[in-house]
Amino acid sequence: MIPYKHEPFTDFSIEENRKAYLEGLKTVEGYLGQDYPLIIGGERVTTEDKIVSFNPADKEEIVGRVSKSNKELAEKAMQEADAAFKTWKKVKPEVRADVLFRAAAIIRRRKHEFSALLTKEAGKPWNEADADTAEAIDFLEYYGRQMLRLKDGMPMESRPGEYNRYDYIPLGVGVVISPWNFAFAIMAGTTVAAMVAGNTVLLKPASTTPVVAYKFIEVLEEAGMPKGVVNYIPGPGAEVGDYLVDHPNTRFISFTGSKEVGLRIAERSSKVNEGQIWMKRLIAEMGGKNTMVVDNNADLELAAQSIVKSAFGFSGQKCSAGSRAVIVEDVYDEVLERVVELTNELTIGNTVDQSNFMGPVIDGNSYKKIMDYIEIGKGEGRLVAGGEGDDSTGFFVNPTVFADLDPQARIMQEEIFGPVVGLMKAKDFKEAIDIANNTEYGLTGGVITNNREHLEYARDEFHVGNLYFNRGCTGAIVGYQSFGGFNMSGTDSKAGGPDYLVLHMQAQTTSEMF
Ligand code: NAD
Repeated sequence: MIPYKHEPFTDFSIEENRKAYLEGLKTVEGYLGQDYPLIIGGERVTTEDKIVSFNPADKEEIVGRVSKSNKELAEKAMQEADAAFKTWKKVKPEVRADVLFRAAAIIRRRKHEFSALLTKEAGKPWNEADADTAEAIDFLEYYGRQMLRLKDGMPMESRPGEYNRYDYIPLGVGVVISPWNFAFAIMAGTTVAAMVAGNTVLLKPASTTPVVAYKFIEVLEEAGMPKGVVNYIPGPGAEVGDYLVDHPNTRFISFTGSKEVGLRIAERSSKVNEGQIWMKRLIAEMGGKNTMVVDNNADLELAAQSIVKSAFGFSGQKCSAGSRAVIVEDVYDEVLERVVELTNELTIGNTVDQSNFMGPVIDGNSYKKIMDYIEIGKGEGRLVAGGEGDDSTGFFVNPTVFADLDPQARIMQEEIFGPVVGLMKAKDFKEAIDIANNTEYGLTGGVITNNREHLEYARDEFHVGNLYFNRGCTGAIVGYQSFGGFNMSGTDSKAGGPDYLVLHMQAQTTSEMF
């Protein structure tokens, strides 16, 4: 087996790659507007009621109409997943891993089609869509290999006449609930981690991006996944989500999304319901309010570039996005000025056009929420760039910068999940780190400094799951920067990390006397 290496990003300055992407767009355009069924126990189930997935850059363009699950269908899917678990758990780990490796190969061959679908369904710019697809491939390759490492358990001591073993066995049926912002990577990664560990899965993807999830299940089927191992049941979070979270047969829940929904799931899943004989396990990766800290002894151009890229990549809709910058006062004006300049250079529009750096935000609700925050920001700080939006054809919000904020301002405390960044001054580096730590979240953070002592100080004191030095705070790579947050950012499961799969299994000790 060749060692794991992350999937390279596509260089779109090469004409051949540009053409390949445009081909991908053409393929996707060929199937826009189709109907998609649910997949329960391998069977296609069509419902009258549909989730309509549209292009957020162009509200008129329907990406697909997807059948909508409800409680009855969720129950049927649970029964199928329960039945499939009895056989899937006995399938050799090597065989389960092979399904992932084959799926990775299939996706690699259709890479630009998948990325183009993300451009249409999630409004992703080319490079962001390419990174999302690459990350999905990485999860498949990485978790497949991780399963091969874990298949023989861990070494244990044995005394003479005794043989002790420590094996990881699967848990049961897992409910996977995924967000729209990494509509491919997170959806695929959380699904296959559960599955390769020998569990069966009920996948409820985000309602804004269900088509890419359907296409992924087709790939798993093509790669040899048996019926019922992953069941595809998009539907309303409140109805289907609550039902499955409460279900006594649910053994674990792998959720990625907002703090509000994550805490609701944490509370509901802790209640033991009639017929339930275990405590449900919960993996919950939630929101962030991530800070870039800039020291006075720092490369200020790097600082400004990192702030802008972290804040506005994929329109600030990454859980890792840098939505605040705390800058030591001696260099505040200079960094602010450069951040404004760089922000004003950004291009925004429909991302089928490669030249647009930023596309739309995901939907009308998100647009409204972000525009409301911009109004709040106008009362709390100084608007120095952006501030406008346009939802006439799609949901576009200009990259927006507020300056001179108070650390307790709402713009500095609440997750906006859009292209808005708040800047403020600190009197020195230590105060900057104190401010960076002053939210309930703890997902990512970045520090720009040339001062070695300050880097070490930040390593000890800046309390976030993913801490980056002299770079932006987004762009974690599977197997290189495993990802997960502290405090209200979640359970710190560290997706793409060396012990992620273990969270989907239970360890069993057996001891035999000879
Ligand atoms: P969301 O919480 O609105 O939705 C996430 C998923 O939960 C969706 O599939 C949704 O349908 C479902 N859901 C809604 N109500 C539910 C309920 N009652 N029971 C069960 N499921 C329910 O989040 P979103 O808008 O899709 O994604 C954005 C959020 O996700 C942001 O807060 C972002 O920071 C976070 N996020 C975190 C990470 C991470 O790794 N920490 C990664 C990506 C996104």
